[in-house]
Amino acid sequence: MWNSFDAVIVGAGLAGSVCARQLAEADKKVLVIEKKNHLAGHCYDYLSEKGIYVHKYGPHIFHTDDEAAWRFASRFTDWHFYHHEVLGLVDGKRVPIPFNLNSMEKLFSPAMFARIGEKLIDTFGFGSRVPILKLREHKDPDLQFVAEYVYEKVFLQYTMKQWGKSPEEIDPSVSGRVPVVISRDNRYFHDRFQGIPEQGYTAMVERMLDHRNIQLMLQTDALEHLSIEDEKILISGKSYAGMVIYTGMPDELFQFAYGKLPYRSLELVFEEHGQDYYQENALVNYPGNYEFTRITEYKYFQRNHRSIRGTIISREHPEEYVRGVNQPYYIEKTEEAEAMATEYRRAAEGIPNLHLAGRLAEYRYYDMDEVIGAGMRMVNRIERVMQH
Ligand code: UDP
Repeated sequence: MWNSFDAVIVGAGLAGSVCARQLAEADKKVLVIEKKNHLAGHCYDYLSEKGIYVHKYGPHIFHTDDEAAWRFASRFTDWHFYHHEVLGLVDGKRVPIPFNLNSMEKLFSPAMFARIGEKLIDTFGFGSRVPILKLREHKDPDLQFVAEYVYEKVFLQYTMKQWGKSPEEIDPSVSGRVPVVISRDNRYFHDRFQGIPEQGYTAMVERMLDHRNIQLMLQTDALEHLSIEDEKILISGKSYAGMVIYTGMPDELFQFAYGKLPYRSLELVFEEHGQDYYQENALVNYPGNYEFTRITEYKYFQRNHRSIRGTIISREHPEEYVRGVNQPYYIEKTEEAEAMATEYRRAAEGIPNLHLAGRLAEYRYYDMDEVIGAGMRMVNRIERVMQH
């Protein structure tokens, strides 16, 4: 039966759904196979009894400078134009993260703040964003002081908890996602477009998949039917000439031919509280000596949060990913992992009708907008090839 479709997409998360929609609109018949009992992958959310959209797999905030990705997503949702701010508990005070001039003013004496603030502005320019590992390279004693302070108090323990490794042991782009900001702008993201889907991510993805050319099968493990042999895709043992877009873990698809790819997981511990608010904004980071990295209070993602009684929070306890036990949320950006991922990418490239898409399959630390952008570009490329 699967053979009658022009394309089979493995995974109904954001990557799979973007590709499915694009192909469906190009008049291709698409089958989407999802192992879980719901769509939307890791951005799945549900409306709790309290009227709060809970992000089951942790907080998702949409932000992008990619206008095409924003426009695409906007076809399937209205937005609450939420601008994300994060506080971090540093030396007993809640200060803006990314660490910026406001954070320094809260933690340093006025004289020290004046001196260091001026030096940072002189050196980097007002409004610049400096990765912590770059800041640490400076020799000036004031800059060294502030770099060490931020490294120790904001990055070191958080990163050790999150990755089980220090900021130096992982790719610099990871800690560079949250630079030191030489301004008083407290926003976490500086992108042009930011928001949270008004009726949730699940509804957004549901609408994406709602097309006459798309058929969705939930609770089906594609790898029980689909396999790769001699650089060919087999479905139920028969050669499949259509397109396969695979969004799961590539090591599973290739039967671990190049080894087990490392992924990182979290235990999300949810709590309901009778009080209306638990903390003063959606996210508070705990970079210090706590077992968890951050607490999310979900109601803040909604326009109507003031009218909601009670609240729901989650704490994130990072942990190793164990197949079949927890969720592979993050890829690990180390040299070894990247080398192994490259082997799997190459193996996929050797099969003309196979494409890897999304965070897990491409093994990239994609944000949601990058998943959409990459998915759109990939399908455009495939379509061009199919037309010739
Ligand atoms: N990070 C940190 N302290 C913080 C926030 C972030 O050390 O208070 C580092 C940490 O290594 C983290 C990375 O920056 O994994 C990226 O943070 P981001 O908030 O982008 O992570 P995500 O939301 O993807 O989990």
